Amino acid sequence: MPGATFEYTELTDEERALRDEVRSFVAEELPPERHRPGLGMSAEFDPDFSKKMAGRGWLGMALPRHYGGQSRKAVDRFVVVEELLRSGAPVGAHWVADRQTGPTILNFGTEEQKQRFLPAIAAGELYFSIGMSEPDAGSDLASVRTAAVRGQDGWIVNGTKIWTSGAHQNHYFIVLCRTSPNEGDRHNGLSQFLIDLKTPGITVNPIPFLDGTHHFNEVVMDDVFVPDEDVLGEIGRGWQQVNSELGFERAGPDRYLSTWQVFLWFVGQLDEASSGAARAVAGRIAARYWALRQLSFAVSRAIDAGKAPSLEAAIVKDLGTTFEQEVTEAILELLDHEPSLDSAAVGEQLLAQAVLTGPSFTIRGGTTEILRTIAAKGLRR
Ligand SMILES: Cc1cc2nc3c(=O)[nH]c(=O)nc-3n(C[C@H](O)[C@H](O)[C@H](O)COP(=O)(O)OP(=O)(O)OC[C@H]3O[C@@H](n4cnc5c(N)ncnc54)[C@H](O)[C@@H]3O)c2cc1C
Repeated sequence: MPGATFEYTELTDEERALRDEVRSFVAEELPPERHRPGLGMSAEFDPDFSKKMAGRGWLGMALPRHYGGQSRKAVDRFVVVEELLRSGAPVGAHWVADRQTGPTILNFGTEEQKQRFLPAIAAGELYFSIGMSEPDAGSDLASVRTAAVRGQDGWIVNGTKIWTSGAHQNHYFIVLCRTSPNEGDRHNGLSQFLIDLKTPGITVNPIPFLDGTHHFNEVVMDDVFVPDEDVLGEIGRGWQQVNSELGFERAGPDRYLSTWQVFLWFVGQLDEASSGAARAVAGRIAARYWALRQLSFAVSRAIDAGKAPSLEAAIVKDLGTTFEQEVTEAILELLDHEPSLDSAAVGEQLLAQAVLTGPSFTIRGGTTEILRTIAAKGLRR
C-alpha cells in the first residue's frame, strides 16, 4: 500500500531528561532580560553561544565520538533543536554546519576531511553556508552554471551563487558545480567542493532582506582554486550527494517553529476580555503546533529506526512552512494596527519581521510546489 507513514511516538524518560537539561540551559543562558529572541533558525549569529552548546555536547550530536560527536540519535537532536528554536535562541552561527554539513561530510568525505572538519563543527568553531542556488538555478538545481575545470593539483571554479545565507559570516561553503558536460543527462557531471569563503577570487555581495537585515548574499567566484583534497565525495556524483544533503534540511522543528515566538507573544496578551475569535485562533494554532510536532518527531524516530523518510520529510516541510505563514496572517488579522519593527514590544517587532521575511519560509530549502511534486511522486509509487 503506497503512502506516507507517520507512527505515533513519545519521548522516553531519557529523552525527557535531555529536554529538561536543555530547558535549564536556556533559562540560565538566555533569560528574558538579556535575550532578544529571533525567528527560528534565522536567529542571531553568536559564536559564543554555539561554543557553549558544543560544551554540552549538543552540536554534531549524531556524529561518531571519534570525530568529536556524541554518537547520539536523531531524536536527541530533535529534542535539543526544538527547545532552542522555541526560545528563539541565537543558533545562526552553527545552524547549517550542525544540521547538514557535518552529516554530509561524514557520508561522503575522505578520512582526512572528516578529521579536519567534523571535530571543529562539533566544537561550534567552524560554520558553513550552502552553495547550491544560482541566479538561474534554484528549484532546477541541475541547471547550475558554475563550472570547474582541471588545474594543477586541483580545480579552477568560476560562477555565481545566490541567496547564500551567512556567507559573510561563515568560514566555508559547499559548492555544487559542473565538472564535465552533461552528455544527455543533466544530472551527470556535477560535483561538490568544500570552499573556504576567504579564498582569493571570492567576492561576497550582500542582498538585504525587506526588513533591512543582512542574511543572505551573492557569492561571485572568479578563478577560485580548489585543491584536490577539498573535493567532496566523487567527481561527477554531485547530484546524488546534493540530494542526500537536502534530505537533512526538511523535516526538523525549524520548519514549523519560525513564528513560535510571535504566537507566544499573542497568547501572552489574551485575557478574559479577549474576543472569542482571538481565543479560537489561539486554540486552533496550538492544536496544529501539536500535530506538526508529532509529524516531525515521527520522522526523527523513523530515521533512528534505519528508515529513509524523504517523502514524509517533504510533507512536513510543506505543511510546516505554510503553517508558519498562516500563524502570522491569523495574528495579523486580529491586530488593530500595523505591526512595527520599532514597537516597544519585542513580540510585535517579531510579528513585523515575520510579515516582511515570512514569504521566504516556503521558499528556502525547496519551494512548496517542489515539495508537493516530491510528495505526489512518492505517494504514487
Ligand atoms: C531565506 C532564504 C535563504 C536561502 N538560503 C540559501 C542558501 O543558503 N544557499 C542556497 O543555495 N540557496 C538558498 N536559498 C535559495 C532557495 O533554495 C531557492 O530560492 C529556492 O530553491 C527556489 O529557487 P529560485 O529562487 O530560483 O526560484 P525558482 O526556482 O525560479 O521558482 C520560482 C517559482 O516557480 C515555482 N517552480 C519552479 N519550478 C517549478 C516546477 N518544476 N513545478 C512547479 N513550480 C515550479 C517555484 O515553486 C516558485 O514558486 C535561500 C532562499 C531563501 C528564501
